[in-house]
Amino acid sequence: MKIMTNKNRCVICEGTIFQFLFSHHHGWSVQKCKTCEMVQVMPRPSAMEVSALYANDDRHFDPYREQIAVHRAYFHTKIAEIVASWQSDAVLHRKRRRLLDVGCAMGVLLEEAKKSGFIAEGIDMSKASVKTCVKKGFRVVHGSLTTLSLNKKYDVVTAFEVIEHELNPRKMMESIHTHLSAGGVVIVTTPGHESWYRKLMGRQWVGYTHPEHLNFFDEETLKHLMHEVGFHNVFVKKDIARPFPLSFAFRRASDYFPAFRFVLEPLSIIAKHFDIQNPINPWGCIEVIAVK
Ligand SMILES: [Zn+2]
Repeated sequence: MKIMTNKNRCVICEGTIFQFLFSHHHGWSVQKCKTCEMVQVMPRPSAMEVSALYANDDRHFDPYREQIAVHRAYFHTKIAEIVASWQSDAVLHRKRRRLLDVGCAMGVLLEEAKKSGFIAEGIDMSKASVKTCVKKGFRVVHGSLTTLSLNKKYDVVTAFEVIEHELNPRKMMESIHTHLSAGGVVIVTTPGHESWYRKLMGRQWVGYTHPEHLNFFDEETLKHLMHEVGFHNVFVKKDIARPFPLSFAFRRASDYFPAFRFVLEPLSIIAKHFDIQNPINPWGCIEVIAVK
């Protein structure tokens, strides 16, 4: 008898029956679980294959660094959203609230959280990220919550565009649940697989462009995972677009679609002369806020 390993089981419900959708990077397959409808790379690659994708991540944060002010404005809004979402008196009346940002990148969210009075800490797989945040004076751990226990409790855990990268997203959410204090709040964002951008662009959708993306959530599958892990007051919605200048959006689009560079690059140069924000979020990101 062939024994099924976790490598062949749905990352959310452990189902074993899948519908093949298409062949992804490295010949990996994107498949949809017939039981819970989660779209995922299946069979799962090994941890070594995944970490090889991050081997040369030095330049990974370059576009991010360039648009720090945009990310700052976005995270400022998100922190205000978290503060407005307290539902537990236990947390509400706590003097210094602790926040953990999973995948804290350049530490912009940590800075915004600190300004709002949080004790802000982070965890990131990237050594470059840890170095930057530590230099800014934050306590940041190198690694992943799926393999590390921080032996601490937090009032808020945030994970912006991280869960689609996780080899084991269920374990990540279970670990976040463990690290939250009772009544604590979690906020997670990820590209939305049911967005009309994906439907319009099909295989060319930006959410599929990165080989590091292994999980493709929609509002239903994200909500399902949160309930499975034990969260309550689960609220899913479409995320706001980060207010990038239009010129930057055209330039990034030309990185994603080199075949159209001949038209996108001139548009980027023209757009530099106008102070216009790009109103669309082609990732169609969705956001979940929930309570432990
Ligand atoms: Zn499933």
